Amino acid sequence: MYEVALGTPVADVLALAGGPDERPQAVLFGGYGGAWLPAPVAVHQRLTHEDLRAAGATLGVASLTVLPARACGLAETARVLRYLAGESARQCGPCMFGLPAIAEDFTALVLGGRGAAQAGQRLRRRLSVIPGRGACAHPDGAVRLAAGALRCFGNDLRAHLAMRPCAWAAQPSLPLPDWDRRSGDWT
Ligand code: SF4
Repeated sequence: MYEVALGTPVADVLALAGGPDERPQAVLFGGYGGAWLPAPVAVHQRLTHEDLRAAGATLGVASLTVLPARACGLAETARVLRYLAGESARQCGPCMFGLPAIAEDFTALVLGGRGAAQAGQRLRRRLSVIPGRGACAHPDGAVRLAAGALRCFGNDLRAHLAMRPCAWAAQPSLPLPDWDRRSGDWT
């Protein structure tokens, strides 16, 4: 954890933390309720609410998570969405119905093929109706993460739709509690 002034360049914060271990693909701003930016875009940002909002991200909880180039951004996002869907008390409609549905759609995207194309169409509709409907911002964060992933990981999306081999089955990169790893059979 580092204390830096608001407005510090992202590249400086990453350098302060020792820099990425591997060639970076993207950076997730604001934690698991945040948004992805491609690494070449992310490193030119400054840590201000205004700059990140203009770039399509958010300062959120002020965390930066670097995704290595070898990972699949869609598969990583699908795992996080499954986790977020399981982390609500399911007292509001968006968490009861919406988050499990978009987590399921993302998993279908990762699995590829005809099911992926249909899931993509459902996601466009679902991601537009969930925000603002919960008693807190948990579902809004999940939607921000999902929508940002679709914008950021176009190459991964095309690979899954074409059913080309992808790194999604490799060792996951983003940290999640153990229960998700144990139940991560993607079916
Ligand atoms: S919207 Fe917030 S309060 Fe409502 S069920 Fe989801 S996490 Fe709980």
